[in-house]
Amino acid sequence: MSLNAESTAFRSALEVIRAVEPRVADAIGAELADQRESLKLIASENYASPATLLAMGNWFSDKYAEGTVGRRFYAGCQNVDTVEALAAEHARELFGAAHAYVQPHSGIDANLVAFWAILADRVESPALKKAQVRQVNELTEADWFALRRELGNQRMLGMSLDAGGHLTHGFRPNISGKMFDQRSYGTDPATGLVDYDKVAEAAREFKPLILVAGYSAYPRKVNFRIMREIADEVGATFMVDMAHFAGLVAGKVFTGDFDPVPHAHIVTTTTHKSLRGPRGGMVLCGPELADQVDRGCPMVLGGPLPHVMAAKAVALAEARRPDFADYAQRIVDNAQALADGLLRRGAKLVTGGTDNHLVLIDVSGYGLTGRQAEQALLDSGIVTNRNSVPQDPNGAWYTSGIRIGTPALTSRGLGTAEMDATAELIHNVLTQTTPGSNPDGTPSKAKYVLDPALADKVSGQASELLTGFPLYPAVDLG
Ligand code: PLP
Repeated sequence: MSLNAESTAFRSALEVIRAVEPRVADAIGAELADQRESLKLIASENYASPATLLAMGNWFSDKYAEGTVGRRFYAGCQNVDTVEALAAEHARELFGAAHAYVQPHSGIDANLVAFWAILADRVESPALKKAQVRQVNELTEADWFALRRELGNQRMLGMSLDAGGHLTHGFRPNISGKMFDQRSYGTDPATGLVDYDKVAEAAREFKPLILVAGYSAYPRKVNFRIMREIADEVGATFMVDMAHFAGLVAGKVFTGDFDPVPHAHIVTTTTHKSLRGPRGGMVLCGPELADQVDRGCPMVLGGPLPHVMAAKAVALAEARRPDFADYAQRIVDNAQALADGLLRRGAKLVTGGTDNHLVLIDVSGYGLTGRQAEQALLDSGIVTNRNSVPQDPNGAWYTSGIRIGTPALTSRGLGTAEMDATAELIHNVLTQTTPGSNPDGTPSKAKYVLDPALADKVSGQASELLTGFPLYPAVDLG
């Protein structure tokens, strides 16, 4: 029997790797097997296409290409130019952006590029001007001192971590929380929704240089038109980090006031979450910030990763196909079916539902911490992650929430009926898990009690649910 192209490609790749370090080849094979078997509900994960994966495994990985298309600090970058230009063109067309910078290695990098572009554009700092690219060697000690003084204490207003914002939006343990004098806006305690009047109030009082919107764990749409009006009123640069929902923007599920691109001065994203590309980041902006954004390398980034830019070009080309819009709509339909299924069974959800790709279960309703719930679900073949809920009494480590998302299962082909069945499995596990105690009898926030027979039964049911939806059906590793 002749093998299809995908099976031949991956089998051959593993054979070549196995000849050098068989344990790596085995681990790669085992990862596919694990992913095929688990009910993956991690909201930030997905399954990239074979073409996207294969575009990363080649000799582009060997190239240094600091600089930008046609203007490199290294010779011999003509082929890197081709893939970088293609990725940027697809990104511009897909999102309707004037400029796309596709070099960031990750979402964090994309945000740092954006922060520095905004600082360079907005802060009147002779030292900063010198620090840009070719003049960096001219900086004296006094310049560095001035740079730190001029740039430190710039103000950023972003969504708080426990309301669903991201670490890079000014949270203390992240560099953004150290670089900026930061303040955060939360959500309304009664509804769990962003209260735009409160955001405006905070902005008027704090007068941020940067207003950030975007989230990792907020299950609702954000009105970017209103956020832009707030930014304009106080003279802030409006930045949106659409890392989580870029696929919904690309698939035209989020349009009008909910599409960040026409409203924000600058938009950052990852390429590997709902967008379903390779791991990486990207920045979109208008012509005003384009030049500063293109200085991302070497200001913030090391050499770009040409093999990943090649994969970005492939994934963005896929996202421009008509079936991507169907996929994006199904992500939201599935999240809503999952939320409805959970609510009908009595779960407590932050904001009472969802209108994007994720659902945040407040597991205090089951008498559990997020840590206990996450592990009990994992024992039962359901992969999720714990997450803070607004005003979380259990902090960021134990948490009181479980975040679940539908991009990966949607890519796999599961639909609303399977989401209802998934809700049943989750509810079943969580209602039958009880908090455990420490050896001295005190209550533990980590330990839990779950009958292993039930965990096994649910694992079996989860696998059964997946049997009709094979992952990478064209890939047979033999
Ligand atoms: N921004 C948001 C909103 C995110 O959710 C994440 C990742 O979780 C990031 C940025 C960082 O992405 P990366 O892990 O690629 O650095």
